[in-house]
Amino acid sequence: MQRVTILGSTGSIGVSTLDVLARHPERFEVFALTAATRWQPLLEQCLAYTPQCAVMSDPSAAEQLRQALQRSGSKVEVLSGTEALVAVAQDSSVDTVMAAIVGAAGLLPTFAAVKAGKRVLLANKEVLVMAGHLFMAAAKTHGAQILPIDSEHNAIFQCLPLAGPLAQGIALAELGVSKIVLTASGGPFRQLPLSQLSQVTPEQACNHPNWSMGPKISVDSATMMNKGLEFIEACWLFNARARDVEVVIHPQSVIHSMVEYVDGSVLAQLGNPDMRTPIAHALGMPERLPSGVERLDLVRSARLDFEALDEERFPCMTLARQAAERGGTCPAILNAANEEAVAAFLASQLQFNDIAQVIAAVLDSVESAEPVSLDAVQQADLSARQRARVAIQQISAKQ
Ligand code: NAD
Ligand code: MG
Repeated sequence: MQRVTILGSTGSIGVSTLDVLARHPERFEVFALTAATRWQPLLEQCLAYTPQCAVMSDPSAAEQLRQALQRSGSKVEVLSGTEALVAVAQDSSVDTVMAAIVGAAGLLPTFAAVKAGKRVLLANKEVLVMAGHLFMAAAKTHGAQILPIDSEHNAIFQCLPLAGPLAQGIALAELGVSKIVLTASGGPFRQLPLSQLSQVTPEQACNHPNWSMGPKISVDSATMMNKGLEFIEACWLFNARARDVEVVIHPQSVIHSMVEYVDGSVLAQLGNPDMRTPIAHALGMPERLPSGVERLDLVRSARLDFEALDEERFPCMTLARQAAERGGTCPAILNAANEEAVAAFLASQLQFNDIAQVIAAVLDSVESAEPVSLDAVQQADLSARQRARVAIQQISAKQ
């Protein structure tokens, strides 16, 4: 019986994870579920899955959840705050932690799970972008197994020869790998005339053609910052250099990514775009578990198209590459500026095109340092957010 904590259980990945767990009650038990501020969805999950505890980062939401659970006669213990998120991530009775909080808010609890040597199912890519070096080193030191949930990275993982090159520092060349190919759908605006990009609404940006996801990653997919973050994520997870990773547009999202070998073989992982596949893969490893995902019908899919990435349309991809090349805390600065800009876009304070502008301004003005500790990374995150808010105000005042 594996005991599982889900950090961010009320989100898109959290809900998919619970769906897979519920298909295998003989294997998995839910230890803790967590959410940010909306307590009603967490209440429903607590009643359906009876975890040992529930954590809300917001204390007043936690109090409302506590009272509602008491009224329902439930014994689920309710905790609140970041310390409680850390506690349920590192608890000694937990085997597996699904890290599915969105953004930098997941940094401390996910790091705690790694330091406690858990099997960490990593959906929260932002934490690896911010502090990849520290994460991979801690995983090695503490014997944590990091399993990629991001569909592209899970695909690459499945196409690599060893069950666990992650965190072991094996160079791709030693595995006979010549290249990693990250596929990208191109998002909802792949073919929109460039002149119309400034007018797109948050609703249009969140309407992804193939995937149903939370709002932040949906906007990231529309700007392609998502692919930029994934590019950095791939470098850390697979010990790859920037030149080992190529990005290719594949609008159907059927091939989730590929690995090219020196003999010319290219291995790909295919499937319907449904996150329950990578989730079930990582939960079951080394076994395969039914996930509830509809089977891929190749005849109905009919076509697999590929295109080069247009960096004029998607400047965020270029910004991410540059931040990765500059190293230090630049990726953390990039990530923080992006989180602030996306939040402002979702709140209709910023136009879509301005997201890249804000990030570029922040990268130009916040100094990068060596990411020697989580403190240094958090400091970079904080400075970048302050600078981003100024840039957002300046840009929105002009509109
Ligand atoms: P979401 O917005 O649907 O859910 C986010 C979850 O995090 C919610 O449970 C929310 O309560 C919690 N949360 C948000 N802010 C928090 C805070 N400040 N403190 C504590 N908890 C907080 O997001 P999602 O689409 O499920 O994505 C989660 C992560 O997985 C992201 O990092 C995303 O990039 C990654 N990911 C998602 C998908 C997908 O298909 N949705 C695919 C690949 C990777
Ligand atoms: Mg992805």
